[in-house]
Amino acid sequence: MMPDSSRSTIFALSSGRPPAAIAVIRISGPRAGAALEALGVKIPAPRQARIARIRDPESSEIIDEALALWFPAPNSETGEDVAELQGHGGPAVIAGILDALSRIDGLRMAEPGEFTRRGFENGKLDLTAVEGLADLVSAETEAQRRLAFRQMKGQLGDRAEAWRERLVRALALVEARIDFSDEADVPEDLVGPALAIVQELRDEIATALADGRRGERLRDGLVVAIAGPPNAGKSTLLNRLARREVAIVSPYAGTTRDVIEVHLDLGGYPLTLLDTAGVRETGDPVEMEGVRRARERAAAADLVLWVTDASAGKSDAPTPDLAEAGRAVPVWQIRNKADLVRSMDAEMLRTMGNASGAKIGAASAAESTPRRRGGAQAATQAGRSRAALASAVNINESRNPSLSTGILSDKTSAYKNEYGVSFSSEDEFILSASEGLGLDRLMSRLSSFAATMLAGAEQSLVARARHRDILAAVQHILNGALDRSWSTGGEEELLAEQLRQAAMELGRLAGRVDVEDVLDIIFRDFCIGK
Ligand code: GDP
Repeated sequence: MMPDSSRSTIFALSSGRPPAAIAVIRISGPRAGAALEALGVKIPAPRQARIARIRDPESSEIIDEALALWFPAPNSETGEDVAELQGHGGPAVIAGILDALSRIDGLRMAEPGEFTRRGFENGKLDLTAVEGLADLVSAETEAQRRLAFRQMKGQLGDRAEAWRERLVRALALVEARIDFSDEADVPEDLVGPALAIVQELRDEIATALADGRRGERLRDGLVVAIAGPPNAGKSTLLNRLARREVAIVSPYAGTTRDVIEVHLDLGGYPLTLLDTAGVRETGDPVEMEGVRRARERAAAADLVLWVTDASAGKSDAPTPDLAEAGRAVPVWQIRNKADLVRSMDAEMLRTMGNASGAKIGAASAAESTPRRRGGAQAATQAGRSRAALASAVNINESRNPSLSTGILSDKTSAYKNEYGVSFSSEDEFILSASEGLGLDRLMSRLSSFAATMLAGAEQSLVARARHRDILAAVQHILNGALDRSWSTGGEEELLAEQLRQAAMELGRLAGRVDVEDVLDIIFRDFCIGK
C-alpha cells in the first residue's frame, strides 16, 4: 500500500518528559520535508544526521540547534516521509519547536499511537507486532521485555501467518475437488489430505492455547492480593515488601479504603501487590465500596496473602470468599506482629511456668523463674497465643540459634481454618512487618512462586485475551470441520466455507480483517509520539 499523499502531516514529541538531555521530535507525512524547510532546515541526505538551526517560520528567530534526520518514504517507520529533530530537551525549546510546527500549513499534532498506526496501515508491521511494540514500551521487567520483543518480531504474527497459509492450502485442495470434480486428472480424494492439514493445525493451536495463560500472566504481571482483617498490618507489609512508603499506615482500623498497588520485579518476573481495604463489616458507604473492591480484586488474584494479627485472639473477621466462581486461589497465611508475641511471652511464661516455657523463658528473659500455674486469665492468653508463641521462637531463632524449637511442633495447625481459609503450614509465614523480621522467607517464596507460574512464558504465543479469543474461535471452527464425516461427498462446499472462515479469523490476528474499533482500542494504549 502506498502512502496517501492527501493525508495530514503529523508531528509530536517522541522522547520522554522534559527536562531531558535530548528531545526527539518526529514529523511524518507528505509535508514532512516542507516542514523542515519552513523551519530553515535543509533536508539532510537520507538516514544521515545533519546539524541544523531551527528557526521560527515567521520571525526566523533561532529556536534551537539540533540534529536533523531524514527518512524518505517508504523506508521509514510509518512508511511515509519522516523527519526527525533531536534538539535540547528543555520544556521551552520543545514548546517553541512544537508551536512553530503547528503554524506550518498542513501540519497537526499526532494522536496517541498515530505514527505506529500509519506504519500498520502502510504494511510496515502487523497488528501482533504493533501490540508487541506497545508492550515493549511498557515492559517493566526482563521477562516482559523478552516476551514483548518476540511478539514485536513476529513470534505470534509469523506463526499465525504460516497457519493461515496452510489453511489456504487445505482450502485450495477442497476447492479443487469442487471445481474439477468431473475431470479425470483430479484425484478423487482431495478432502482427506485437506483434513489432515486441518487436524495438524487444530493440534498446534490447541498446544498454543494450553499454556496455562502464562503469556497473559507475564504481560499483566502476577497479581498478589494482601487481604485480611483491619489493622492486621497489611499496609505495613506492603510497604516493607515494596521497600517504600506507598500505602497509608495508620493505627486506626479501616484507613486503607481503596486498592493500592505496587509493582515488583522478582528476578525478571513481574508481580503486582495489591493492598486491599481491611475486610470487615462496616456501615460506612465509602468503606463498604473499598471492601467490595478488595474482595473482587482478591478473588481475581493469582495468590492471596491473608494477613492476621498473631498477637490478637481469634478475630471476628468474616470468612473471605476467595474462591468465587469456582476459582481456587492459593492463600498464604501471614501471621503478623510476631514481635508483640515475643514481648508478651516472657510475661506470660513467668505466670505459666510450663516446660516449653522454661526454654523460651530462659532465653528471652533472664528471670525465667519463679514458675507457677497461672490463673484462668493467663491460661486463656496462653491458649490464644500458642501458635503465635511458636512464631516467636521462629523469629528468635534467626537471631539466636541457641533457642530450641521445642514448642514449634506445638502445631501451627491449631490456627488452621481460623478464618475459614485453608492453608498448609508450608504456606504459613510468621513475621513482623513493622520490624522487618521473617520477610526473607516470604520474599523468596514469592520469587519462586512467580518463577514457577511464569516459567517459559516468554515463549508464549498468546499474550493477550484478543489472541486467545481469536485462536479459540479458529479452534472451534476447525473442531467443527473435523467432527463431521465428510466421506459421503457432496458437502465440500460446506467444508470450504468453514476453512474460509477459519482463515479469516486467523487474519484478524494480524489485523487483516479488523474493523476500526478494534484498531482504536489497540492504538489507544500508545502514547503520543509513538
Ligand atoms: P492494615 O489495616 O491491615 O493495613 O494495618 P496497618 O498496616 O495500617 O497497621 C495497623 C497497625 O499495626 C499500625 O499501627 C502498624 O504500625 C501496626 N503494625 C503493623 N505491623 C506490625 C508488626 O509487625 N508489629 C507491630 N507491633 N505492629 C505492627
